Amino acid sequence: MTTADGNLFIIAAPSGAGKSSLIRALLARHNDGSMQVSVSCTTRAPRPGEVDGEHYHFLDVDTFRTKIEENAFYEWAKVFDNYYGTSRQVIEHTLKQGIDVFLDIDWQGARQVREAYPAAHSIFIVPPSLELLEQRLRSRGQDSDEVIRGRMAKAQAEMSHYHEFDYLLVNDDFDATLLNFEHIVLAQRQRMALQQTRHATKLKDLLANDG
Ligand code: 5GP
Repeated sequence: MTTADGNLFIIAAPSGAGKSSLIRALLARHNDGSMQVSVSCTTRAPRPGEVDGEHYHFLDVDTFRTKIEENAFYEWAKVFDNYYGTSRQVIEHTLKQGIDVFLDIDWQGARQVREAYPAAHSIFIVPPSLELLEQRLRSRGQDSDEVIRGRMAKAQAEMSHYHEFDYLLVNDDFDATLLNFEHIVLAQRQRMALQQTRHATKLKDLLANDG
């Protein structure tokens, strides 16, 4: 069997839609090394419990800007007040090994990746309602109404780009959404172009005349 390049998946969603939990759950179901989530670089400060190199690579603004100049990012964007970027080298290296890669990025990064890599598959996740989204955002901490209003506005700004994506998941039931997510991902692995590369010898044997 020959290794075909892995699939690149762009996953975007407003904060509170359940994106990180869905990606984590999918990776836990496929812990055979066949898929990975890309660890982004960011200039934002770590939140309690976040580990450098695991959740993000936390960089200062100067280091981030130097990396932009060095063309070290596959894509990068300023999301609200902070810079976020995906390392070019890691993505290209991982895909070459035949491993599927998930990019948990915003709509601006998604646009750049689509342009650079049209074969990427993009998935947008929305919550079932604004009420539930607000409930989820409130349950994260004891924030003032003003902070929550700001987060809701950011969430709606992100959601306004949903139609730029190939797939839309409405996360009303976690298990059902996870199953749909998994189906999208697994279906891409059976695409003809990939299967022809992987099974070139088998296909040649199947079509041989001396059988
Ligand atoms: P947070 O600060 O809450 O972890 O992430 C804020 C937003 O930045 C999320 O929508 C997340 O998907 C996005 N984001 C995280 N990493 C990257 C990245 O490498 N590139 C881009 N463009 N967006 C990112």
